[in-house]
Amino acid sequence: MITINTVAFAGFICVCIALCFDTVCRWISIELRNQNRKKIICIDFDGVLHDNTHTAWKNARIISGDAIMDSISWLHRLIYSLPKDYEIAIFSSRNAAFGGIRAMKKWLFMYGLSEDDIARISFPIYKPPAHVVIDDRALQFSGFYPEVKNIISFKPWNKRGKE
Ligand SMILES: [Mg+2]
Repeated sequence: MITINTVAFAGFICVCIALCFDTVCRWISIELRNQNRKKIICIDFDGVLHDNTHTAWKNARIISGDAIMDSISWLHRLIYSLPKDYEIAIFSSRNAAFGGIRAMKKWLFMYGLSEDDIARISFPIYKPPAHVVIDDRALQFSGFYPEVKNIISFKPWNKRGKE
């Protein structure tokens, strides 16, 4: 006789198998990517391309701010002026959230990048091994560890001088 416990256990096993399969697929895709790896320019989205100063975060699928001045023309120039062994990755906390990548691609298209331009950008769901990272919420480590007070009082460029 099939009880609720049996069904729950079978469901649990199915979820575990699905998670294992997902993990293995991700490992394989990361390994395949690493084989012919280009140097990655890893660019953050919010606060670097998207102006998030005047809009509160709602969720990964909602992007209600404008483009930061020159961000799209800069990105477009970067896409076509980098040497062939470089690639651009937009890496944001939105990447791993449901609908986040689609929302960013739609937003980039709305602000002037073509589908071809967008196809030249990758949107990894894990932090890629980058040649350089361009992020508004980072302290560059230059051999000296930042003090706790400097970490706590950190503000991104567009929030400095504001409370
Ligand atoms: Mg940011």
